[in-house]
Amino acid sequence: MRRVDRRSFLKVTGAQAAVLALSRRAAAQSSSDVVVVGAGAFGGWTALSLCEMGVPVTLIDAYGPGNSRASSGGETRQIRAGYEDRELYTRWVLEAFGRWKAREAEWGRRLLFETGRLLLAPEWNHGLETTKAALDKYHVPNERLSQSELRRRYPQMNAEGVGACLFEPTTGVLKAREGCIAVAEAFQKKGGRFRVSRASLGRRAGARLADLALSDGTSLPASTFVFACGPWLGKVFPDVMRGKLFTPRRDVFFFGTPAGDDRFSYPNFPNYSEDDSLGYYGFPSFDNRGFKVCPVGEKTAFDPDTDERLVSAYQVKRARDYLAVRFPALKDQPVVETRVCQLEMSVDEHFIVDRHPALENVWLVGGGSGHGYKHGPVLGDYVARRVMGQDKSPELETVFQLKAQTFG
Ligand SMILES: Cc1cc2nc3c(=O)[nH]c(=O)nc-3n(C[C@H](O)[C@H](O)[C@H](O)COP(=O)(O)OP(=O)(O)OC[C@H]3O[C@@H](n4cnc5c(N)ncnc54)[C@H](O)[C@@H]3O)c2cc1C
Repeated sequence: MRRVDRRSFLKVTGAQAAVLALSRRAAAQSSSDVVVVGAGAFGGWTALSLCEMGVPVTLIDAYGPGNSRASSGGETRQIRAGYEDRELYTRWVLEAFGRWKAREAEWGRRLLFETGRLLLAPEWNHGLETTKAALDKYHVPNERLSQSELRRRYPQMNAEGVGACLFEPTTGVLKAREGCIAVAEAFQKKGGRFRVSRASLGRRAGARLADLALSDGTSLPASTFVFACGPWLGKVFPDVMRGKLFTPRRDVFFFGTPAGDDRFSYPNFPNYSEDDSLGYYGFPSFDNRGFKVCPVGEKTAFDPDTDERLVSAYQVKRARDYLAVRFPALKDQPVVETRVCQLEMSVDEHFIVDRHPALENVWLVGGGSGHGYKHGPVLGDYVARRVMGQDKSPELETVFQLKAQTFG
C-alpha cells in the first residue's frame, strides 16, 4: 500500500473538497421542474407522486423527513374513517387505507396496524349519529356498544359514565415518523433528489418565483414550487398566512404498562377517544413504548423551531387524573416517554391546497389541522395532479382554498 504523507494527504483532501463544493453548487443550481419544500406527510407524498408521474423533483427539508419538530414526526398517528358529516375525508380515508396497504407490500415494511377505535361519550349525540350515518353509507363496519358490552369486552377499562359507544373495528394506527422516512427513501430510489436545507423565497420574475434561497447560500431554480411546510407555512409566508394558521402545542404521554401485563398493548386494546368536554384520546402500547394518552384542548401557540419539547406539569396531571378514572390499573404507572408536538390548524380545519395569491408558480400546501397524516398518500397524489394541471375538481378547489377569514 502507498504511504500518504501529511502534505499530499492535505493536497488530496483539499482537491476532493473543492470538487465536492463544485458538485454541490452544480446540484444546487441545476433546475428541477418542481421543488417541494417540506418532507412531512404532505410534502413527502407529493414529491413521491410527482416523481412517479415522471416529473423531475427536488425535495428539501430543513431538518429531515419525519424530524422531531415536524407535525408528522410523532411515533404514531391514527387512521379512522369516522368524520362526522365531513364525508370528503371519509371517502379519502377509505382510499388511503388501500394505498397504505399497497405501499406496505411494495416496500416490504409494516406501517399500518388495525386496532379498532372506541368512541366514548356520556350519551348518544349528534356527532356520533352523523359519524355512524357516514360509516353506514360507505359500508364501513361499525357497532354501537352498550356499557355492559364494553365492560364484558374490555374489563381493563372503567366504563363508568360512558352512556354511548361507537366501535369502528377498521380504525388503525400508522407509524408516523417511520412512514415519512419510508416515503423519502422510496422517492430517492425512484430518482428524486433530496436535500437537507432551509429554503426561503429567492428572486422574483414578475408574477413568478425564479428560485429558492437555501441556507447554504446557494439558490435553486425551478418551474414550480410547492411549499408543504406544515406549521412553518406562516413563517415562510408571514403576509399571506397572517391569522390563517394556528399552531397550538399538544403534549403526548406514554405511560408504562404494569410488569407482566399486556392488557393495554396492541392488539389487546383498541384506540379510544372521549367524545365530550373531557378531551382525551390515545392508543394501546406499540413496540412496548407505553400506553398513549393525549389530553387535548391546549391553546398555547408553539414555535416549531425554537420552543423546547418539554411537557407541562399541568398536562401531566391532566393525563394522570384521566387514567385514574378510565384506566385505574395505570394510574400509578410512570410516564416512560413524552412528545410535545404542534398542530397546524386552518380556520375551518380543511386542508389548504392553493396557489400563492401573487406568485402563480408557487403552491401552498398544509393545514393538516390534527387529522392530515393518514391522508398523505391521497393528498400527495391530489396535489401532484393539481400542480401539473391534471386535476380540475372545482368542489375540491373550493374546499381546499386559502379562506378569507382569520382566527380571532
Ligand atoms: C400530536 C398530534 C397528533 C396528531 N394526530 C393525528 C392522527 O391521529 N391522525 C392524523 O391523520 N393526523 C394527526 N395529526 C396531524 C398530522 O400529524 C399533520 O396534519 C401532518 O403530519 C402534517 O404534515 P405536514 O407535512 O403538513 O407538516 P410537517 O410534518 O410539519 O412537515 C413540514 C416539513 O417542512 C419542513 N420545513 C418547514 N419549513 C421549511 C423551510 N423553510 N425549508 C425547508 N424545510 C422546511 C419541516 O422541517 C417539516 O419536516 C396529529 C398532529 C399532532 C401534532
